[in-house]
Amino acid sequence: MPLFNLSNVSKPKETNYDVAIIGAGPGGLASAIYAGRAGLKTIVFEKSTEGGQILLTDMIEDYPGFVSISGNALAENFLNHAKTFGANFTNEEIIEADLVSKIKRLKTDLGNEYTAKTVVIATGSNPRKLGVPGEEEFMNRGVSYCAVCDGSFFKDKRVVVIGGGDSAVEEGLYMTKIAKEVTLIHRRDKLRAQKIAQERAFKSKMKFIWDSVVTEIGGSKSVEYVMIRNLKTNEMTKYPTDGVFIYVGLIPNTQIFKDQVKTDENGFILTDEHMETNLEGVYAVGDVRKTPLRQIVTAASDGAIAVIDMTKYFD
Ligand code: NAP
Repeated sequence: MPLFNLSNVSKPKETNYDVAIIGAGPGGLASAIYAGRAGLKTIVFEKSTEGGQILLTDMIEDYPGFVSISGNALAENFLNHAKTFGANFTNEEIIEADLVSKIKRLKTDLGNEYTAKTVVIATGSNPRKLGVPGEEEFMNRGVSYCAVCDGSFFKDKRVVVIGGGDSAVEEGLYMTKIAKEVTLIHRRDKLRAQKIAQERAFKSKMKFIWDSVVTEIGGSKSVEYVMIRNLKTNEMTKYPTDGVFIYVGLIPNTQIFKDQVKTDENGFILTDEHMETNLEGVYAVGDVRKTPLRQIVTAASDGAIAVIDMTKYFD
């Protein structure tokens, strides 16, 4: 008799669930907490590490109940909370989904198939690329989309941050504690970021280049400069830098669902006020959804609303 039956390796014990949650960021984990508490048999699929974008954030100061908490600590709290109420977790990526049928079918990268009566899409979004020469070439050699992950490589060096939203300003502020020089380059003369972050940035050592775009990232082995075009004067400047942090918005992770769920022109999933999509029993929460505000608190709130609404399918 063989010691193990290899055909059973990595096969899940249970494949039929009430709720399948795809993505374990704040939206997915809040959904898991509510689903567990509602007594629904729940599975959460996460292709990398549970926590989502908060893992890329240094300190969080706008999640109620925590004046200041690290992204890692908050993610761990969310995960432990969801586990306490019985949600199951698996590190598998959903690669195919049938969300139209009454019983939803999900196929993973490990070749496993799951069914669920309801699905929560909580797949979040990825950083948008700037799309200029040198961006791909110098990826991980000076070009980064995550200051918290890569910032330490730039100790006492010069970096530029591109964008004017919350991410650019907050991550730029984070870099002021590490780098010798931080310059934010924005295409307008006003930031989009929240006022409190703007005020901190203006008080910090951060420099600003307004009305300008980066047209090229250059260097030899690693980044040495960016070419900057002033949109008012068309003047080009070669600006020396060791690092380029790009924060020019988000692309929603909807590739495998977009032929089934309705999205807006930018790919963000459209939902009603209960977070339900155009498909019965299919919900979208957090950054992947078309929403006026993308915060941890709004993602968590989306999860709560979605799960309370979905209980109608289990009466
Ligand atoms: P965002 O708010 O969409 O801002 C993107 C920035 O990039 C904008 O300033 C935009 O300029 C600029 N931009 C876009 N395309 C560009 C291009 N091709 N070239 C140059 N600049 C370009 O993105 P985000 O900052 O990543 O934030 C995403 C969401 O997460 C937002 O809802 C944000 O509030 C949220 N967020 C919240 C927090 C927090 O609350 N602590 C932290 C991070 C992110 P314009 O301003 O001219 O459009």
